[in-house]
Amino acid sequence: MTDGPGQQIPTDAHGGIIVRGLQRSFGSVQALAGVDLDARPGRVTALIGPNGSGKTTLLLVLAGLLVPHAGHVRVGGFDPVTDGARARARTGWMPDTFGTWDSLTAREVLLTFAAAYRMPRALAETRVAELLETVHLSELADRPASVLSRGQKQRVGLARALVHSPDVLLLDEPASGLDPRSRVDLRVLLRSLAARGTTVLVSSHVLSELDELADDAVFLSGGRTVTAGTLVAAESARRSWRIRALSRTTLTAWLTSVGAVWHPDAEDLPTAAGFGRPQPVPDGPGGVLVDIADEQGAARLVRDAVTAGVALTSIAPAGGALEQAYLALDEERR
Ligand code: ADP
Ligand code: MG
Repeated sequence: MTDGPGQQIPTDAHGGIIVRGLQRSFGSVQALAGVDLDARPGRVTALIGPNGSGKTTLLLVLAGLLVPHAGHVRVGGFDPVTDGARARARTGWMPDTFGTWDSLTAREVLLTFAAAYRMPRALAETRVAELLETVHLSELADRPASVLSRGQKQRVGLARALVHSPDVLLLDEPASGLDPRSRVDLRVLLRSLAARGTTVLVSSHVLSELDELADDAVFLSGGRTVTAGTLVAAESARRSWRIRALSRTTLTAWLTSVGAVWHPDAEDLPTAAGFGRPQPVPDGPGGVLVDIADEQGAARLVRDAVTAGVALTSIAPAGGALEQAYLALDEERR
């Protein structure tokens, strides 16, 4: 492997996930073009990037299932390339899709994995029953896993990743396919694992899934981690606020008169009655998106609007903090 300056694993390494200068290509496609990442024990770290940005490739390397072409990796204190068995023993891996398990039941799938981790049978049975309870699958445990819904299979996959009580948990798009109730359960479970010291790295291209879940966020773009500096700049970029008033026309006229930058709110436009023809937007209750730097700015705007007689009905930041940062990155999709 080639080393660049400053790409070594630090000597005071923590026991979570450490990645420096990671590269991996598939033919002419450079899926990972220089990834640096720290995911610390006791924290949930979000791995965020659009489709094709390299999330799955990175997670496969961390899980010891794909050999990198350059760079350094430590997972739970071990190098998955040179010390694969020890790294894998500490790592739980939940892929984004599962193969079929033919006629195995959810319980049998989990017992098979427990056996692969050389867990004594009696201990395995207790552990598996406990995990089935945790992911709310006890009642379906003895049906063939192949008949479970996608969301239920996801939960089997999550339990499977947890069988050997790993120190490091890698989850590839775990929330996709889950109903809202299961997502809340997932959040509670990952938070409790982190509270016990587990390192959790969870990928998604849907920001809202991770906004409330993660302590830290790493952004991937075109196979590279977006540098912390870029992210700080993005986070401090002007945020967009959703403002509504009794009269949209009065609101926009006033915003224009005070020099505020505003944009139509796609969520708030009346459904077009005609097709293909621009429809005049009738006045009425409605809102727009306004660029405001911070909460002080929002407070000033509310005060000034009320003073000017604009009847505001609501004001709130549009989207979560991660979403704002993500959008501000000006991502190029591939
Ligand atoms: P993500 O999970 O963020 O959607 P991936 O890691 O799956 O991204 O893919 C990153 C890039 O690498 C994409 O351009 C993808 O097409 C390519 N890629 C991933 N796996 C393979 C493979 N096995 N063979 C060829 N190209 C691949
Ligand atoms: Mg993927």
